[in-house]
Amino acid sequence: MPKTASRLGGFTESVIRGMSRLAAQHNAINLAQGFPEGNPPRQLIDALICAAEGPHHQYAMTWGAPRFRQALARKVQRFTGLALDPDQNFVVTCGSTEAMMVALMTACNPGDRVVVFSPFYENYVADTILSGAVPIYVPLRAPDFRYDLAELTLAFAQNPKAVIVCNPSNPSGKVFTREELLEIGALAQKYDAFVITDEVYEHIVFAPHKHTAMAALPGHFERTITCNSLSKTYSMTGWRLGFVQAAPEVIAQAKKVHDFLTVGAAAPLQEAAVTGLEFPDSYYEELRASYTSRRDIFLDGLAASGLKWTEPEGAYFVLLDISPLGFATDTQAAEWLTREIGVAGVPGSSFFREPEHRYVRFHFAKNEATLTEATRRLSHIKKLRGL
Ligand code: GLN
Repeated sequence: MPKTASRLGGFTESVIRGMSRLAAQHNAINLAQGFPEGNPPRQLIDALICAAEGPHHQYAMTWGAPRFRQALARKVQRFTGLALDPDQNFVVTCGSTEAMMVALMTACNPGDRVVVFSPFYENYVADTILSGAVPIYVPLRAPDFRYDLAELTLAFAQNPKAVIVCNPSNPSGKVFTREELLEIGALAQKYDAFVITDEVYEHIVFAPHKHTAMAALPGHFERTITCNSLSKTYSMTGWRLGFVQAAPEVIAQAKKVHDFLTVGAAAPLQEAAVTGLEFPDSYYEELRASYTSRRDIFLDGLAASGLKWTEPEGAYFVLLDISPLGFATDTQAAEWLTREIGVAGVPGSSFFREPEHRYVRFHFAKNEATLTEATRRLSHIKKLRGL
């Protein structure tokens, strides 16, 4: 049999999605793959029913239905102040998963380097390798997950083609400050690199932290490629609606990549999602309040476990320090937690370049009852480990 492509040896299957399958197998509460519990807001379901009755069942325009891109441009302007052209600044993709792939394939030539902060969302490394580029890593160190400017400067001195910034960051919960983004932007400018951002958690930020859109920083629009999606903001991860936002010259190329990868995102879903993009500001305030309360419930509950964890500034992930539990690896710990405690998380090592086995990542995008039950189960960890 012929051999499959050697680039596939550079990464494994998604550990996140694998843990989701293990959770289902053991009937455990799935705090592994991060997605909101329950349905999107009722108005969106009604809009979907309405869209299903309309003439939206054939391909939408490949780079996104015009009405959807217009609504997107208005929403981006409302939150970032950027006045963008729906035709020239956006490509609608199948989730931000495709957006990131499109961004990297648009930016990189084979052999180019891409700076990835570690810990990272696992797709970045896989996507970098699939686009023919090579990841180079800069650590973000607990507890505040700040990068070291000297280390970042050294990475840029290797002339990368791009740096990937996940803000708010998965899995660390770090929210990059305006000053940090300006620092990263200045290095990108000096070494002529793109800044590729993943901003899917932009509306899930805990006070006093604030989300800053990289593209809206003075002088940084041209080299920023923003990847984003509607999944987290409107609780619709299954709709697979994402987008790439960038300068017209970049988008002209990204449109080609996207067209030949997937042709387009689902037409009826783009039509229905316009309703969400037009929600008033109060929707986003309530979303933030709801996630702040879920974070508080989860962290208060975790206190009973007697373990330590990382405090998220944004997004909905917590890294629980499982090192006192005496497991040889975090993978063993995560499997044991799924099987014996009935709560699934993701072994932290799958997010780190460094040999880091201290953490299991949990997400708290669940309703109050589920979070309460999960922390009740987790409160027995030490006892069950004989500690
Ligand atoms: N971003 C989510 C997580 O890290 C999952 C996204 C996905 O699986 N596509 O859990």
